[in-house]
Amino acid sequence: MKSINAGVAHDGQSMPSPVGRPFLAAGVFIALLTVVLIATNVWLASRTYDAAWSQTTKTSRNLAHSVANQLDSVFSEVDRLLNTLGYMLEQRDMTPADLEPLQPIMVTHLSRAEYMHGLFVYGDDGRWLVHTQPVQSRQANNSDREYFIAHRESRSTRVLISKPVQSRSTGEWIIPVSKRIEDAEGRFAGVLLATVRVDYIVKLLNGFDIGHKGAISLSLADGKLLLRRPYAAEELGQYFANNPLMSAVNSARAGMVRITSPIDRVKRLAAFEHLPNNPLFVTVALSEEEILAEWRSAAHVQFACMLLVVSIIGVSSWYVLRSMKLRQTSDRALRSAHEQIVLANAQLAELAEHDSLTGILNRRAFDHRFEDILGQARRYGRPVSVVLFDVDHFKSYNDNYGHPAGDDCLRQVAAALSSAMRRPGDVLARYGGEEFVAILPDTPADGARAVANAARLEVARLLLRHEASADGIVTVSAGIASAHAASVDLTSAGLIGQADKALYRAKHEGRNRVVVAETPQG
Ligand code: GH3
Ligand code: MG
Ligand code: MG
Repeated sequence: MKSINAGVAHDGQSMPSPVGRPFLAAGVFIALLTVVLIATNVWLASRTYDAAWSQTTKTSRNLAHSVANQLDSVFSEVDRLLNTLGYMLEQRDMTPADLEPLQPIMVTHLSRAEYMHGLFVYGDDGRWLVHTQPVQSRQANNSDREYFIAHRESRSTRVLISKPVQSRSTGEWIIPVSKRIEDAEGRFAGVLLATVRVDYIVKLLNGFDIGHKGAISLSLADGKLLLRRPYAAEELGQYFANNPLMSAVNSARAGMVRITSPIDRVKRLAAFEHLPNNPLFVTVALSEEEILAEWRSAAHVQFACMLLVVSIIGVSSWYVLRSMKLRQTSDRALRSAHEQIVLANAQLAELAEHDSLTGILNRRAFDHRFEDILGQARRYGRPVSVVLFDVDHFKSYNDNYGHPAGDDCLRQVAAALSSAMRRPGDVLARYGGEEFVAILPDTPADGARAVANAARLEVARLLLRHEASADGIVTVSAGIASAHAASVDLTSAGLIGQADKALYRAKHEGRNRVVVAETPQG
């Protein structure tokens, strides 16, 4: 029985445990799914991010181009006007009387150009000679203005655009566009000035959609700010020369640059473009925050959805894995219960078939096996022998040494007899009391005699003291009955009866011997 226990335990241990594998596979699958989902979303978000940037780049470059062209046409018109008037001035003396006829012409030009604030001619000393202002302020003097000084000092007759100033006649912010006037000898004769309304250009810039935090600016080529939207008068004329924008502006006609505005510290993506015909450039800068606002909200929704899906996958996987685990646990419990039942059944069968004293087969098991073996012998025409063993004078053994010693003697006798059964098919059983029976398939009488004698000698070799016995030791007698293949009347009862008779004879003839039945069956 010990060996049966051990066998089952060994089987249980050596069985490959499939418990972890589905778990691992499910876990890996879910992890992969989640990684793919996250990777796809990150990729999508980065694609839409790139798209937002490139769309903004395109938009701001287009805006910069459009603003540059519109402003260029304004300043080019002023340039042309100043060149025309300059030519006319150079044909005259620079005296108020001589210049008087120019006044209506200047007024006409002024009325045609909405962006223009005024036209002025100053003498070489800065006095107002002729102008388009309603108030004739002949005492006024502009010789202190930067542009006036610049024209007086420089021989260049090119039109000069200067930083915005507040008009002396109206108080309005204006951009001075001026030109040096020379006399016939090329000496400085005065300055011709056209003033461009800052508020006109601001209005023009306001027509472009640049979001709430966008900015558009118009600057001189050296970086001096002429004006900017959002408009702040105090910023006009400031220099912003030392920034990445200026280095980009100095190296290309148009381009893009990321900047942090030195004015309001807002991070912007700026497109700049030089005006084609004037020494100015415009910058259209859109706030990065606004550019990305739409992308951000879309990305937030997308990531929220992804998180939801990942959570659903996580929760449902947890449920699936948990139920898998529960199922596996209950399967294992079932399997182990089943194994225990099988084991218990085997143990029961073992108990039911074996004799509790000697451990060899009992009478019941013997009866079954005997019928089976006889059936086989009949079917295949093979001989079979039956040997009945009986311990000699066992009653007196009990009487002399006590019943427990008798039991121990029976155990030893059973083991000795068993050791003589050499073939795998040989069966030894306790027949009852101190009687044992052996069935020897495929064994005729001679073979059976040899086996029985060997068994008898095994018992004698135990040398168990038995004073009441003739030999002084425990011995057995044996009766053999054999059946041939051709036996017609081959029954278990018949064979046992024959063997019993032979045993009786063995007893009668003096015990401790083997007798073969005289008339074998068949
Ligand atoms: P014989 O040589 O003629 O066989 O003499 P015997 O004394 O063996 O004959 P008998 O069949 O009368 O006695 C059998 C005895 O075996 C009777 C009984 O006390 C004893 N016996 C039978 N079964 C057991 C058992 O399980 N344990 C013990 N200790 N004794 C048993
Ligand atoms: Mg007996
Ligand atoms: Mg006996």
